[in-house]
This record gives sequence, C-alpha cells and structure tokens, in this order.
Amino acid sequence: MSPVLPRRAFVKTVVSSATVLGGVPHLLLAAADKPALLGGRPVRTAPFPGWPVFDEHDEAAVAGVLRSGRWGRGGGPQVARFEAEFGRLMGAQHCLATANGTSALFASLGGLGISPGDEVILPPYTFVATLNVILLQYALPIFVDTDPETFQMDARRLKAAITERTTAIIPVHLGGGACDLDTILAVAGERRIPVVEDACQAHLAEWRGRRVGTLGATGCFSFQASKNLNCGEGGAVLTNDSELAEKCYAFHNNCRGRGTAGYDFTYLGSRGANLRLTEFQGALLLAQMARLEAQSRVREQNAVRLTRLLREIPGILPAKSYEGCTRNAYHLFMFRYDARAFAGLPRGRFLDALRAEGIPCSPGYSPLNEEPFIRATLRTRAYQRLFPADLLEHWAERTACPANRRLCAEAVWFTQNMLLGTAEDMEHIAAAILKIREHAAELAKSA
Ligand SMILES: *Cc1c(COP(=O)(O)O)cnc(C)c1O
Repeated sequence: MSPVLPRRAFVKTVVSSATVLGGVPHLLLAAADKPALLGGRPVRTAPFPGWPVFDEHDEAAVAGVLRSGRWGRGGGPQVARFEAEFGRLMGAQHCLATANGTSALFASLGGLGISPGDEVILPPYTFVATLNVILLQYALPIFVDTDPETFQMDARRLKAAITERTTAIIPVHLGGGACDLDTILAVAGERRIPVVEDACQAHLAEWRGRRVGTLGATGCFSFQASKNLNCGEGGAVLTNDSELAEKCYAFHNNCRGRGTAGYDFTYLGSRGANLRLTEFQGALLLAQMARLEAQSRVREQNAVRLTRLLREIPGILPAKSYEGCTRNAYHLFMFRYDARAFAGLPRGRFLDALRAEGIPCSPGYSPLNEEPFIRATLRTRAYQRLFPADLLEHWAERTACPANRRLCAEAVWFTQNMLLGTAEDMEHIAAAILKIREHAAELAKSA
C-alpha cells in the first residue's frame, strides 16, 4: 500500500496517531487520507449496528397477544409479568408499567402529590420531558447547573436551590451514567424532600452496586424506541414504598385502585388519568429484556475502548463518571469538543466532517432553562396567580446555568446502538476524529 499523501504529512499523522491507534496500519493510513468532506475517501461506509434488535421470539410474543384477543392491561398476564420481572431485575419492591417515560414521571409527581405552587428541582441538561411533567403539575421548575466533567447535575449546587416551596427533586441519570446520588440523597434526606430519579436513559446503571432508579422515592424508566430497552413507547415507575406504589397506580388508572377491574367504580387518590401500558408492549418488553444484560455488556466494553482511544486526542474530553457510579448504561457516549485543539474548527463543521467520514453524531441538547416557552408559561394566568410576582420576576437569574450553556456548545454524542458493534468500529471513530484533527485548519478554511 502506498500512501497517497505527501510523505511529510503522513509521517506527522503516524507520529501523532501512533499512541492512539496502537500502530494499526490501515487506521493510521485512514487518518492520513484527505477528509471525506473535502473529497477524500471516508474512514468507513459500513453502517453501525441497527436498532431495534428483534427476532422470532419478539414476533411470537406480539403475535401471541394479538391472537389472544386480550390486548389491554389486566385482560392478559403480560404487563403484570413484565412488572414482576423488571422489578426483580432492578431490585425494587414495586414496579408499575406506564404508557411511556413521561407518564412514569407524571405518575410519580401525581402519587407524591406535587401541586400547583410548588417548586421542583431538575438539571437543565436533560430531555424536555423532565421539565414538562413539572409544568403539567403547575409547579415551578428550578434548574441546578451542570457539572461539565460528568454532564450530570452539579450536586454541590443543590442545597442552595432548595426553598420552603421545594417539594421534589428530579435528578437525571443522563446518558446512562449516574448523577451524584450520595450528595443528592443526603441533601434531600435532611429536608425530607422526595427524590424522583429520572432513569429513563439508565437501564441497569448502578450507584455503589445498586441499580439506579431504586434509591429515590421513585425511579422512572422509558422504553421509547431509542432507549436501551424498547417497546416503541413504554415506561415504568419503581418504588420500595407500598403506599406510594398504590397512589401512583391509581394516578395512572383514572383514580382506580389495584383491585378495581371491569365495572367496579370505586375511586382512590385525588386525580388521575389513563397512563396504562398495553399487553402488546408488555409482551414485547419481556422478549426484549432477555437481551438487555448481554447488550449492556457489549456497550460497556466498547465504551471503555472508545474512551481509552479518544482521551488520547487533544481537545476530545469524554464524560467522566463519579466514583460511586459502578456501572454505566451508556445510552449515549458523550464528550466535549474543544475547538481550540482543532485549529478553531467550529463544532458544527467538526460534526459535518465526522458524518462525512461515516460516523453518525449529534450536538445533543440546547440549554433547556433558556427555552422561551418556559418564560411564556410563567406569564400565563395560572402561574401569575400561583406564584408571587417577584419570584417569577427573578426566576430566570435564579435558574441561570452558565456551565450548562458552555457544555451545550461543546458537547458531541454518539448513540447507544453504535456501541453494539465491534472493537474495530470504535477504532474507526477514533481514526475519523484523528483525521479531522490532522486536517482541521484546512476544514476550517474551506467552511
Ligand atoms: C426519554 C426520556 C424521557 C421520557 O420518556 P418517554 O418514554 O419518551 O416519554 C424522560 N427523561 C429522559 C432523560 C429521557 O431520556
């Protein structure tokens, strides 16, 4: 194989790449090549593993429900069976399946009696559903800034965000990592404020050997199509509190308690909706769950490999884990991109170049606390009535999150399915980034 590059450039690439790629010749050569965005050959053309994954077992599970004619919860055994198995897998006493992760969070707040006029704490670096359930209860969202090293809520800032009005804290285990539960549970415990863990991205993640989602008052999961355990749309609430379990159940079942079936119209709880999971989804989740542990191990192995490769590249800063995070579910592989180490190549152009090399990637979330729709909501009649004017007036400065804003401008994500591939797939990612770095000045100029 003869390098098409001028010798000087090739040698420079080989030297700077050798430590990263362990001298794998074809990858070194790939990195020396011209960027695909500038007309060169892409590092790879093969797709990454697809998602979802299914086979005849999943087909049989769904078809079985169809043929049974028992499609709704309670009609058949599937949802109850899934609740028992997921609860056991996670190590929680109670599991309530819900229509999706949003309704798991909504039912948790409903079960806890979070009310109009309350304040609820959350991180700004999360999917919008974490926020929406707070607004649905006419509570005031209070954002706590992000720890850019881990992409998680900066728990050191939690205490200062609590007031007399605070009735719940919703920390998020973002990307499948764990937020600092030691600090969060200690601060919340001191003030007897319930913690609703948003574990919608963190199936099988652990904090000090225990599954996340089992340490707060409730833990909420999503089985939406992109999540590590998937049935299209689905969710679950975990709790070890029997009374709270019944309240969440009633909230998700139009105020009807567990024993209430068919035409028994007695009501429990104060408010409710229909947030139930169907038997189709219950059966599909049972089939999908059989793969969860093995898939999680593959993701972990590949994420460890990828971290090892990428942290050697100047300007690429993979998200770190807290010491207490004993297992990461890697729903996302996240890192910060420092353009200064890439000749000032803007992140958007870096992402375009990476995609051109055959590596799908995303810039991730934008600052949620700065969303204009929140301010519009706080100006509505309901919020104006519920909260003192000066409280609403100072809300924006109180919930400003400068570290999160910087993080949102620097973040890059890969999705969980990319981690289901081979060690070579991870090397391709590293090679593509190295190649872009090698040609960063050229890429920046041609933008
Ligand atoms: C996916 C997700 C949700 C909502 O789950 P849905 O099933 O889509 O309703 C909530 N929080 C986080 C962090 C999520 O990633």
